[in-house]
Amino acid sequence: MLDQVSIDRLRRMDTRGFPVLSVYVNLQPGPESLRGVPARIKDLLAHVEKDSEDLPRDQRLSVRADVAALSRDVSRFGPDLGHGVAVFRSNGAAIDQQLVLPGPVRERAVIDSGAYLRPLEAMIEHYPHYCVAVVGRRFASIFRFVMDELETWEEMRDEEIRKSNYGGFAGYEEQRVRARADEVASKHYRNVAARLAELKRTDGGFDLLMVGGPEPHVEGTIEALPPDVAALVVGTFSIDPGTMTPATVLEHARRVATAWDAREEERLVAELFDTASAGGRAVLGLDEVCSVVNQRAVDTLYVQAGRAVPGSVCTGCGKVSVDVAPVCSVCGAPTRPVPDVIDRLSESVRSGGGTVRHILNPGPLSEFEVGARLRYSTLLVDAT
Ligand SMILES: [Zn+2]
Repeated sequence: MLDQVSIDRLRRMDTRGFPVLSVYVNLQPGPESLRGVPARIKDLLAHVEKDSEDLPRDQRLSVRADVAALSRDVSRFGPDLGHGVAVFRSNGAAIDQQLVLPGPVRERAVIDSGAYLRPLEAMIEHYPHYCVAVVGRRFASIFRFVMDELETWEEMRDEEIRKSNYGGFAGYEEQRVRARADEVASKHYRNVAARLAELKRTDGGFDLLMVGGPEPHVEGTIEALPPDVAALVVGTFSIDPGTMTPATVLEHARRVATAWDAREEERLVAELFDTASAGGRAVLGLDEVCSVVNQRAVDTLYVQAGRAVPGSVCTGCGKVSVDVAPVCSVCGAPTRPVPDVIDRLSESVRSGGGTVRHILNPGPLSEFEVGARLRYSTLLVDAT
């Protein structure tokens, strides 16, 4: 599974001077998946053979063996792997690694001196760290939910309500016991809420929170949260804490996260489109985005998961372009082809202190592929 440790391990692999073929494949159904996975992989790999034509002979043969091996074994990109998969292969260095991805990815095949890891780093950046609290009558189970994986964080247990107090003098006594039970319950909610607030501030923290359990416990706990933590609640779910299993909690967490992510993306894209159509500080489409990125004007780059778009980067001024002209139209220096121009745009935005936001759900941005919010207004005269 994807985590920083596996990324670091891939980065440290000994390639013995051989190139590494990195292939990212999207397995989630979407417009780009209309064609079958085998056909798309064939296209990606054909591109790789062309890209490696200029390499020294032993390296070229290594790449050719990688391409042949992956072409023979397309079944390893099975849809049962979930959203997407990344494969890193180097025949010469006897490397063959595969990672299942927590979300859809831009498809690409890249030949480089090491594993091409930027998409994995972007994913780690993208996925929020959720805290999931399931609140029972006297206990709470707290989980971490990150990149589609659920792990227990801690278990809390409160004092018992003594049922033996029930009965006796009906009426007055029963009322007293109920009041006592209510008091115990609200104390329990306060304890759980206080612990969640503590976890938010310590122990790695979390970005967002979901609360599950029978409705009164969910409501009671949320009411007891401090406002800054209550603001992080993205959803709730109903579950019987007596019969829940990690698998059922995971199912609920996934559903809440997917719904929240879709709502949040819809909101971000709508805002971007509103700003752009009002002539504000936003642009849509690859040409326009290249232009504003080259002007270092981008605050946030929005990228719709999809296909890789080839382009070029100037070796002189660093201009990123979807053109593949051999020389730069600005400074005249030679350009270098890049397999995915959007990667280069992302890199440039990040290095300039901006952020990159990946939009995973199909929507209005699919048509444009990229959009950007700007730091300041730019004149779009540099369309070259
Ligand atoms: Zn240039």
